[in-house]
Amino acid sequence: MEAGLALRSPLEAIRRFHDELTLLRRDLHAHPELGFEEVRTSGIVARGLELLGIEVHRGIGRTGLVGVIRGRRCDSGRMIGLRADMDALPMAEDNGFEHRSGKPGLMHGCGHDGHTAILLGTARYLAKTRNFDGTAVLIFQPAEEGLGGARAMMEDGLFDIFPCNAIYALHNWPGLPAGKVGINPGPMMAASDRFEIVIEGRGGHGAHPYQTIDPVVVAGQIITATQSIVARNVNPLDSAVVSICSVQAGNPGAMSVIPREARLVGTVRTFRRTVQEMVENRLRELAGSIAAAFGATATLMYDRIYPATINTPYEANFVADVASAMLGKDNVIRDLSPSMGAEDFSFMLQGRPGAYFRLGQGGAERGCFLHNSNYDFNDEVIPLGAGIMASLVERSMPVID
Ligand SMILES: [Zn+2]
Ligand SMILES: [Zn+2]
Repeated sequence: MEAGLALRSPLEAIRRFHDELTLLRRDLHAHPELGFEEVRTSGIVARGLELLGIEVHRGIGRTGLVGVIRGRRCDSGRMIGLRADMDALPMAEDNGFEHRSGKPGLMHGCGHDGHTAILLGTARYLAKTRNFDGTAVLIFQPAEEGLGGARAMMEDGLFDIFPCNAIYALHNWPGLPAGKVGINPGPMMAASDRFEIVIEGRGGHGAHPYQTIDPVVVAGQIITATQSIVARNVNPLDSAVVSICSVQAGNPGAMSVIPREARLVGTVRTFRRTVQEMVENRLRELAGSIAAAFGATATLMYDRIYPATINTPYEANFVADVASAMLGKDNVIRDLSPSMGAEDFSFMLQGRPGAYFRLGQGGAERGCFLHNSNYDFNDEVIPLGAGIMASLVERSMPVID
């Protein structure tokens, strides 16, 4: 055991190797990898865990891996899962500092480098102290950014092999001051769906539109009408977003060619299944009947990408209690407003009780949020995240001598 480690609080203990975790985080930042391609990253994680004497299970969800730490007692039979995501984004970085991305068009723009470093910090502390009665399961997840790495791990039997009693995850949050934590006992992130509407008309000469069925005009009507779904169909006490983010038709170099087809692509965000179903149905009805009114057809393709991230109340309150004990109760927001963004930890929360919380990053003065090309994870908060994660394990499974 490292001298005195067990005598200290997790936060104090982890602060002793803060510098090493910062170097590791910056190394990960300089070497970003896309979802399911985290070969270098998962290799570094696996080696790091093995050096700590932690049992490693690789290949769960392709590039995903799990580290298993048994407490100094295992009488409780309990198992707590902690999850970090490892993937980067397909975006170019505009930062000039030394640890900027060394790969053109790839960037850790969401701070998953920080999440990975945090969980490795937790692993180091827990492996050295083992001051709990049960098993800690450290879940290093691939492909959070849109590819459903959490689901891939579950399809590979994550919770059959490691039947966790509760699971926890964090996400850094630039809008929240460093040193603060935010959580609530219910919805944290929305369900994220993708839809595509293909409008088929009849193309022709722009000077003779009466001979055509113009899909561009139909698309315009559909774009306007879909905004009535949130305004007129969704109960104002529920939340939903319908955004059409891509409009494709015709050729900018052909001013007088009315195209045959127009295509709209967008996203729907909701928290409740009933609202999600209603929005999908209204999109289909509006698109189909508006197109029909103009003599065109419209087909809706609707994919449910990530479900809503819903905390279970007991585990969410437990996170808030643990964070309050560490950071002071004034630094813990217990009724944080949910975000209409999405998160694939939601798949894990469909299978197990648990909670997802936000770790403040500060940086409001830099004015860049997640997925901004000037974003960088704030290394100052690494021990806070790692300390809370470690404390969740210790306090969920206390050793009673
Ligand atoms: Zn992201
Ligand atoms: Zn993220």
